[in-house]
Amino acid sequence: MSEKSKVVEGSPPDYPRYRVEPGSKVSLAEIDPDETERYRKKKDVAKKLEAQRRRIRDLQERLYAENRRGLLIVLQAMDTGGKDGTIKHVFGGINPQGCRVSSFKAPSAEEANHDFLWRYHKSVPAKGRIGIFNRSHYEDVLVVRVKGLVPEEVWRPRYGIINDFERTLSAGGITVLKFFLHISKDEQKKRLQARLDNPEKHWKFSSNDIKERALWDAYQAAFEDAINNCSTEHAPWYVVPANKKWYRNLVVARTIADTLEAMDPQYPPAEEGLEKITIPD
Ligand code: AMP
Ligand code: MG
Repeated sequence: MSEKSKVVEGSPPDYPRYRVEPGSKVSLAEIDPDETERYRKKKDVAKKLEAQRRRIRDLQERLYAENRRGLLIVLQAMDTGGKDGTIKHVFGGINPQGCRVSSFKAPSAEEANHDFLWRYHKSVPAKGRIGIFNRSHYEDVLVVRVKGLVPEEVWRPRYGIINDFERTLSAGGITVLKFFLHISKDEQKKRLQARLDNPEKHWKFSSNDIKERALWDAYQAAFEDAINNCSTEHAPWYVVPANKKWYRNLVVARTIADTLEAMDPQYPPAEEGLEKITIPD
């Protein structure tokens, strides 16, 4: 079996699901970031994306009402990979009361004085909620490894520590879904250039992005190890072709909708005797 074929083609449903099967080894270089199934342009999927967003909205309402389980969505990507855009386009329509986005930058002094998971654990969603991690505990085996911020004997054991952490969350009723938004190096160049060319995007540009870009291969290797070591039954990784933003949004949205549907959240039983109640004038 080729490495590529191990990214499972889902059936049913009738679309590639991009889930990295636990125990398999994917090679990012063999996964096409330009993949769009049979669709050619944004217009081809506009209605489909809206339908997935509606599914998420309805299921989130039930998850919130049930108040017994939660969903944690982890978004990781190279710079310009589309984490912010995915959040905006996939979650735009959902009830803010049931959802929280946590974005992680370099740790503060206080955060750095704790074990590396501390700040992430504090942001894990409560029961009934959806939590979105824009960057996550994976940074501690990505940037930290690539930049040599700690020695290998510190970051290497973190794969196992992360698997244990995610198992703890899942045992506590939190489903964990992890997306790697996979773009090509050429696509990153275009997106960085667009940030330079458009004054309204200047705020997104950091000259540090150029330094990080020079480390592209080291980052790809670090992502590959994180995905291969930490795609588990209880917390799978999905490698999402992300050169086309509209296709990326569709894949992420339907994966989330399918996951929520499989969780099958239920409205709690109503109080007894509601039918006998009349509201006083
Ligand atoms: P941005 O998402 O563009 O605002 O950038 C956030 C920056 O924080 C990125 O350069 C990340 O590599 C960095 N960052 C996030 N988490 C960590 C971490 N645990 N250690 C060091 N740097 C981090
Ligand atoms: Mg940035």
